[in-house]
Amino acid sequence: MDDNLYNQLQDQKYQEHEALCKRCGACCGAMEEYPCEHLKKGEDSRYFCDIYEERFGLRKTLSGEPILCVPIRNMLSKTWWGRTQCAYVRHKRRII
Ligand code: SF4
Ligand code: SF4
Repeated sequence: MDDNLYNQLQDQKYQEHEALCKRCGACCGAMEEYPCEHLKKGEDSRYFCDIYEERFGLRKTLSGEPILCVPIRNMLSKTWWGRTQCAYVRHKRRII
């Protein structure tokens, strides 16, 4: 397989993976009293991260508590904010 095709397939997989997210904001604390300070609600009522491209690392909640932002794949078998709502967890369990 040539590099271009490989990169194209990788990009396609990445886009498919990203598209699974329902932007419910649960993993960023949308259902909590103090979510991540970077969690914002869009005009379409879905959530987004205002630093998405550089989100990973130590962040803060609106109350100033430190939280660690990590790739969602690292969290699928753990306990975390919004686990039961998450489209990735449900997809993994074949619920959706
Ligand atoms: S920094 Fe991480 S935890 Fe905070 S809103 Fe963005 S993706 Fe969610
Ligand atoms: S909980 Fe899952 S579906 Fe909801 S915003 Fe987070 S990654 Fe997306």
